Amino acid sequence: MATGMVDDTRKISKEEANPFESMMERFDRAAKLLDLNPDLYAVMRVPNRELKVYIPVRMDSGRIQIFEGYRVQHNFARGPAKGGIRYAPDVTIEEIRALAAWMTWKCAVVNVPFGGGKGGVVCDPHQMSMGELERMTRRYAAELIDFIGPEKDVPAPDMNTNEQTMAWIMDTYSMHARHTVNAVVTGKPVDLGGSRGRREATGRGILFVVNEAIKRFGMTPPQTRVVVQGSGNVGGIGAQLMHEAGYKVIAISDVNGGIYNPAGIDIPAALRHLNATRSFEDFPDVERVSNSALLEIECDVLVPAATENQITSENAERIKCKILAEGANGPTTAAADEILQRKGVFVIPDILANAGGVTVSYFEWVQDRMGYFWKEEVVIERLQDVMCASFNELVKYADRHGVDTRTAAYMLAIDRVAYDTRMRGIYA
Ligand code: NAD
Repeated sequence: MATGMVDDTRKISKEEANPFESMMERFDRAAKLLDLNPDLYAVMRVPNRELKVYIPVRMDSGRIQIFEGYRVQHNFARGPAKGGIRYAPDVTIEEIRALAAWMTWKCAVVNVPFGGGKGGVVCDPHQMSMGELERMTRRYAAELIDFIGPEKDVPAPDMNTNEQTMAWIMDTYSMHARHTVNAVVTGKPVDLGGSRGRREATGRGILFVVNEAIKRFGMTPPQTRVVVQGSGNVGGIGAQLMHEAGYKVIAISDVNGGIYNPAGIDIPAALRHLNATRSFEDFPDVERVSNSALLEIECDVLVPAATENQITSENAERIKCKILAEGANGPTTAAADEILQRKGVFVIPDILANAGGVTVSYFEWVQDRMGYFWKEEVVIERLQDVMCASFNELVKYADRHGVDTRTAAYMLAIDRVAYDTRMRGIYA
């Protein structure tokens, strides 16, 4: 196995790497298999609304800097738009549009009553002070005021945004509304109307669907070797929960590379080490692996939980897992799907595998609107119900239609959105 910490550069075409193209390719395939009515197809393949804003921010230097921000609302057929806000220097409207559509399909797969949305601001948050970030967030939120709201569009954290960002947005919205409206965003601190169990929800959702998937292979957790790429909210918490559930986690990584031990890694200790030293380096009794080598380790369950385009036409042939549980959004390109299918890899597609986050976001929105907050055990039990039922429905749907699980996930989601759109009628 290749070691060394520098990741191999993935040589794939621009088209293969484009998340919007990947999403549309899968959408088109599913729509064709469903023989989707052309009017419904025309409505569902485009977003409902896109907003672009220019955000003036007084920087610490005293000068005004203008940042570009977006919010895309992809579909409202099943309820308010729902989706995160990301801050990054390379955010584009195309990426936000793809992510918004993904949210529509994800919410439909787990049957929560939301449509899809996504937002982003082009900025480098690591180069900004807390004051600059707060002023930028508040002014962006102020620009979104007529656009978002508990009944309209409910943002949440995504890359480089967090509970603090959500608290600022909630406060800005509430100041303009002249009363506290905590249901306008999810992913808030628990004391401000956040849900217990939200932080762990995505990782826990992965655990629940993997628990269901291994049953199909007649495996039990102690017999199941797991490889996790990424150790943040999804990968780190997912690995920790799987370790606690008795799985043998044999490799884990962060952006700088990973660690591997075929006998299993003490995940709580590795994560404590990462937390304390900001690196897996010097963690004892493990072999170092690059992120690309880690993906090719022979294992039972591979959980890519870092970033998109990790499994591509270039490396899919060398993937050696039985089950691929996609923690990240879009870790597999559309071109890689076919290769994985030919190899017989059982894919738990991202729009199901990582839907634990949006499911508990839905619970948070419900709790805020009720003004009544649930115990953590209640959140976990209800999350388990949703994830296990959605997994089993998806597998049944795939069997019934004779398609792979990714295609089935898109078909199931499109079917649900199409049904609701047809029942409501197209206001044209
Ligand atoms: P995070 O920032 O908490 O963690 C990301 C992890 O990936 C870190 O360990 C980081 O070091 C690593 N990483 C970053 N770039 C990498 C690269 N190029 N190669 C290898 N490792 C890299 O983020 P997160 O919240 O865990 O999100 C991870 C993925 O899951 C993203 O695709 C996100 O959109 C998706 N997701 C997150 C949630 C959620 O609730 N947090 C829900 C659904 C989907």
